[in-house]
Amino acid sequence: MSNLKREAGAAGSAPAVSAKSVVELATCRSMPVLGLGTWELTHDTSGTVAYALQLGYRMIDTACDYGSQPGIGQALRRGVIDRRSVYLIAKVEESDDAYAATRKYLGEIGVEYADLMLIHRPPEEGVGVALWRGLQRARSEGLVRDIGVSNYSIDQIQTLGRETGELPTVNQIEWSPFGHSDVMLEFCRKHHIVLQAYSPLTRAARLGDKVLRAIAERHDRTPVQILIRWNLQRGTVPLPKANREDHLRENFDVFGFAIGAEDMEALNGLNEHYSALGSLPYV
Ligand code: NAP
Repeated sequence: MSNLKREAGAAGSAPAVSAKSVVELATCRSMPVLGLGTWELTHDTSGTVAYALQLGYRMIDTACDYGSQPGIGQALRRGVIDRRSVYLIAKVEESDDAYAATRKYLGEIGVEYADLMLIHRPPEEGVGVALWRGLQRARSEGLVRDIGVSNYSIDQIQTLGRETGELPTVNQIEWSPFGHSDVMLEFCRKHHIVLQAYSPLTRAARLGDKVLRAIAERHDRTPVQILIRWNLQRGTVPLPKANREDHLRENFDVFGFAIGAEDMEALNGLNEHYSALGSLPYV
């Protein structure tokens, strides 16, 4: 992706991505290339997130219905690393007053600002212009640094842009080799919208796929590491969730190898618009 800051010494055609690499947003701020998902990360949330921070994770994704907001706040207050070194993503719900909800969720987490606040999903009617205005107000008051959307189609993003004069910095959608869209990826690239990949591990449903397993074996890696690495090499930003410590370690150990062009093509070819959640914002 054009907005992935490549690093010197890149070998071959794969971008040299390190644990410290960042993706640049249209606003010129940046986010880490890999984050921790926290949907239902409810077993010792605080301890798990603190452990992830120790391992090197620098981005945490949450929402009010994940059950992880207070624990994330507790982890941040443990002082493993400075709050400003952690990129925090939160979301407002489609029925929320976005400005009031931003204040409420920041209060529940116990932080003064979020790095990125998303509209969790488009409302049933319209594209969320009132929600967007609320997020803009929150941003103008320093409660959030950047604002974006989640589960939006190209049409919905374009309409939001037309009606508010501003495109989102991010679209967070379900994304894996088994379910992705060249049209969406090209659209995001063209408009400098970072595509964040949720459920990047297919909620573990497709880890037994034969092609994926063969590629993993060739690289002496696990299927999960291949799924994460596939995103890193395409400039999309994966947010794998893991509650188990061994999973956290495995999922962060993805910077010491590269998938070759042929295997990247084979992974792209697994696309069947698979969705673990049953809703993709593209055809
Ligand atoms: P996921 O990350 O694709 O999969 C998580 C599942 O994979 C968990 O059961 C986890 O187990 C397991 N797992 C993790 N690492 C593993 C490994 N190395 N080997 C085997 N299994 C492993 O699914 P997700 O939680 O749906 O998506 C990730 C994040 O995206 C969410 O947590 C959330 O932050 C975000 N999200 C956003 C939206 C939205 O509408 N914006 C929707 C869904 C998700 P353990 O937990 O037991 O380690």
